[in-house]
Amino acid sequence: MRITANQDRCVGAGQCVLVDPEAFDQNDADGTVIVLRPNPGTEPEIARAREAVNVCPGRTLALVEES
Ligand code: SF4
Repeated sequence: MRITANQDRCVGAGQCVLVDPEAFDQNDADGTVIVLRPNPGTEPEIARAREAVNVCPGRTLALVEES
């Protein structure tokens, strides 16, 4: 699984950081998302990644299967 982030859509709301501060951070300058852990491996990591995708108000994040 891989987390993708479309920076153009990020509104800097920080909901992803609240869900999983080990996986997401925000750019100091403009608040846009920084993906710290783009490849969640364990079930809890994947579950939190899914939650972050769901709560993101900008529809910035996606969780995609790696081929
Ligand atoms: S929740 Fe979405 S819009 Fe907000 S900082 Fe994270 S990626 Fe950006």
